[in-house]
Amino acid sequence: MNAAPQAVAATAGFDVERLRADFPILQQEINGKPLVYLDNGASTQKPQAVIDAVSNFYAHDYANIHRGVHTLSERATAAYEGARDRVQRFLNAADRREIIFTSGTTEAINLVAQSFGGQKIGQGDEIILTGMEHHSNIVPWQLLAERVGATIKVVPITDDGALDLDAYTSLFGPRTRLVSLVHVSNALGTVNPVQAMVETAHAHDVPVLLDGAQAVAHTPVDVQALGCDFYAFSGHKIYGPSGIGVLYGRRELLEAMPPWQGGGDMITTVAFEGSTYAAPPYRFEAGTPHIAGVVGLAAALDYVDAVGLPSIAAYEHDLLDYATTAVGELPGLRLIGTAPEKAAILSFVFDGIHPHDIGTVLDFEGIAIRAGHHCAMPVMTRFGVAATARASFGIYNTRAEVDTLVQGLGKVREMFS
Ligand code: PMP
Repeated sequence: MNAAPQAVAATAGFDVERLRADFPILQQEINGKPLVYLDNGASTQKPQAVIDAVSNFYAHDYANIHRGVHTLSERATAAYEGARDRVQRFLNAADRREIIFTSGTTEAINLVAQSFGGQKIGQGDEIILTGMEHHSNIVPWQLLAERVGATIKVVPITDDGALDLDAYTSLFGPRTRLVSLVHVSNALGTVNPVQAMVETAHAHDVPVLLDGAQAVAHTPVDVQALGCDFYAFSGHKIYGPSGIGVLYGRRELLEAMPPWQGGGDMITTVAFEGSTYAAPPYRFEAGTPHIAGVVGLAAALDYVDAVGLPSIAAYEHDLLDYATTAVGELPGLRLIGTAPEKAAILSFVFDGIHPHDIGTVLDFEGIAIRAGHHCAMPVMTRFGVAATARASFGIYNTRAEVDTLVQGLGKVREMFS
C-alpha cells in the first residue's frame, strides 16, 4: 500500500523509531511477541523524560507546596507553578490564572457542573450535550439536572459518526445555559467542528465546555482561537502521568464561580463565623494536589511540543488512512465511525465475534486493543451494537504494527469461523 505523495511529504522527518526508543515499556514482548500497543485512547505510555522528571522530583525536590519557608517547599512550589505557566503556553490561554489543576478530565467537568452549573443552571434551564459524549461528560450534567430540575438536550449523530449540525443549531432556545461537547470522540474518532460550534453557541450567548481528553495529544489546541469558555484534558492521554489533568476556564467566568470543594489552599481567611475564598485558580484547588503529577505533565508537554503537534497530527493521519484501508479490506469487518474528520481511532465490529474475544486473541499476539462500550454507551446504542473493538494510535505506532494487527485479526477469524 502506497501513501499519497502529499502524506509522505507531511510525515517526512518524523522519526518514529527514534521516538519509540524513548518509551521503555514498548521494548518488551507480551506472550512471546513484540508488544504492539494500540490502546492509546484509554491511556498513553510514558517517555523516559516524563519518568525521569517525576523520579528526579521525588528524589531531589519534593515537599508540599505554597506557604513553605524551606528550600524544598520553595523548589516544589516553583515546579508546580512553573507547570501552570507551561500549560498556559500549551493551550495558548490568555492568563495563567485560567489554568486549574484537577485529577483529570472527569474532575474538571464535575468542577464546572457543580460550581458554574450549580450557580447558573436552574429549574427549566437546558444543557446541550451530544450523542457522542463520554460518560464523564454526561453523568455530571445528569446529576446537576436532577438536582436543580434542568433538562438535557442531545445533538444526534449521523450514520457516518459526525454530529448533525442542523439539529445542533435548532436545539438552542431561550433557556439554553451551556453546551458541553467532546472535541474528539473516543468511541468514533470523530473530530468535531468545535470552533464553528462555539460560534453558534456564542451567537446565543451560551458558553461552551470542550472535552479535550482525546484531542490534546493529536492536534494543536489554542483555546483563544477556539473561543471556548472551558477546556478539559487529562495528563495520562498525552504521555503524562495519570491522576492529573487540567481545566482551562475563561477568567471572567472563573472569577464569578463559587468554590466546589472546600479545604486547605482555597481560602483567604477561615473563621467559624464564615470564610473567604482565594481567587482562581486556587479557589478550585482545595487540598494537597498531585504535585509530582503536575511536574510529570509539564515534562510530557515539553516532550510533545519538542516532537511538534502539527507533525504528530500529520503522521497519525497518515497512519489512520493506512489502517482504515488495511482493516477495511477484511471481509466481515464493519467500521463504526467513518466521519470525514477523524483522529487516529478505529472502532469496529468483526464477523459477529464478540469484541472481548477479539481483544483476548489479539493479546496472545502481543497486541493491546480495547473492547467494550468505551464509556460511551449512547454511541453503542446509536449504532446498534453492544460493544466495539477499538485500536487507537499514538506517536510511537507504525505501519508495521498496523500490518501485525491485520494479521492478528486474520487469526481471530480463523479461530472463530
Ligand atoms: N472524555 C473522553 C472523550 C475520554 O476519552 C475520556 C477517557 N477515556 C474522558 C473524558 C475521561 O478522562 P479521565 O478518565 O482521564 O478523567
